[in-house]
Amino acid sequence: MHMPGEEASRLAFFGLFALQHRGQESAGIATSDGHVINVHSQMGLVTQIFREQDFYPLVGDMAIGHTRYSTTGSSLLCNAQPILVEGYHGKLALAHNGNIINTLQLKNQLKEQSNCSFSSTTDSEIIALLMANAPGTSWHQRAFHCMNVLNGAYSFVALTEESIIAVRDPLGIRPMCLGKINNGWIVASESCALEHIGAEYVRDVDPGEVIVINKKGFESHHWSGGSGQRAMCVFELIYFARPDSIMEGSLVYASRQQMGAELAKEHPVDADLVIGIPDSSTAAAVGYAKESGIPYSDGLIKNRYVGRTFIEPEQRLRDIGVRQKFNPLSEVISGQRLVVVDDSIVRGTTTPHVVNLLRKSGAKEIHMRVCAPPIKYPCYMGVDMATQDELVAANTDLAGIKKMTGADTLGYLSVQGLLKVVGGQSGGFCDACFTGNYPVPVQLQLSKLSLEG
Ligand code: SF4
Repeated sequence: MHMPGEEASRLAFFGLFALQHRGQESAGIATSDGHVINVHSQMGLVTQIFREQDFYPLVGDMAIGHTRYSTTGSSLLCNAQPILVEGYHGKLALAHNGNIINTLQLKNQLKEQSNCSFSSTTDSEIIALLMANAPGTSWHQRAFHCMNVLNGAYSFVALTEESIIAVRDPLGIRPMCLGKINNGWIVASESCALEHIGAEYVRDVDPGEVIVINKKGFESHHWSGGSGQRAMCVFELIYFARPDSIMEGSLVYASRQQMGAELAKEHPVDADLVIGIPDSSTAAAVGYAKESGIPYSDGLIKNRYVGRTFIEPEQRLRDIGVRQKFNPLSEVISGQRLVVVDDSIVRGTTTPHVVNLLRKSGAKEIHMRVCAPPIKYPCYMGVDMATQDELVAANTDLAGIKKMTGADTLGYLSVQGLLKVVGGQSGGFCDACFTGNYPVPVQLQLSKLSLEG
């Protein structure tokens, strides 16, 4: 963000706090006052990392920030972002969302051509070094050079001493939006971050767009080297994004309600009550209930403070498992034929526990309805779901999954139904984890630790 004449770091903090759901391993903020870049990053949650005194060095009216969950590189402090590098064009801090596929090749080229050394094991450092050493007389030209060589998913912001450069990959795989605040500009992964700090959502950043913000103002440039194809991650709309964010022109909450309604059309069932697995399935459950005419109710209460903790639970608590996360409303559930709406089944390890919990609370029947089609393929573009071996739908048929969950019936939203709801029937979305149709050529053996060792 650029907040002319104001300190940007505190607003950046509240923006990151709104985006905590996008990564809980580490977080950080980098600022510039036009002369010097300062960075504070740590392992942990945003509220754990920043104390009052941590803001003292974070001076200047330009700031970028990041919350991380790892896709390439381990969960280590050296991989926390924003990452600060120094190159031919001086110092540059970078925060990246996504996953680069040709990392090893680019790393070797950087070593040979620019004699770069590396302090992390992330693909984000490679982007930062590429930007800091790219040919071109302006930052948008240097960003275009990076887009020529990067293969994969990337929305990133780079901070130099004088400018902020925001870049969204040509397929638009990961989200990015633009907002306005007073006489300043802000870009963020999701619009919920804008609203929380009083900024106004302007629009999504276009796939292949490069935005440069500095004291001279705002510039937008479009890279012309792409095919024009778009491939926004549809899983953002199903699960990852916050429901109060706007993506691809629609409120995510409304998209999820429509997914639930479509699920009700595809998999109707005679039942008494619809419940959702909180919080990410609530909107879809409401949509299912409205379409089917079956009443909706809360049935499970989620402990909102369950998240990543550095304290390992003792074995007795670990055995309680899903009970730590959800508490059933037995008086609501008991004796009812339930439709239970979930956003997705990835490994399939949680669902049997939820079904069991609901049965113990007296549910008469349990009809699982899942808002994502079966996930059969791993993601190489920024969502670290699981390996193919771990994905239950890659290795088990529907009857087997139903048996494993312990539900009376099981129904998944179809790929066609999903795409109909999001307006992606003629393209525009990545659905590779359901179909195997990757929008970029992927090396199927790529590991998140490919830059280590
Ligand atoms: S493979 Fe799935 S999770 Fe990954 S970008 Fe595509 S739709 Fe999103």
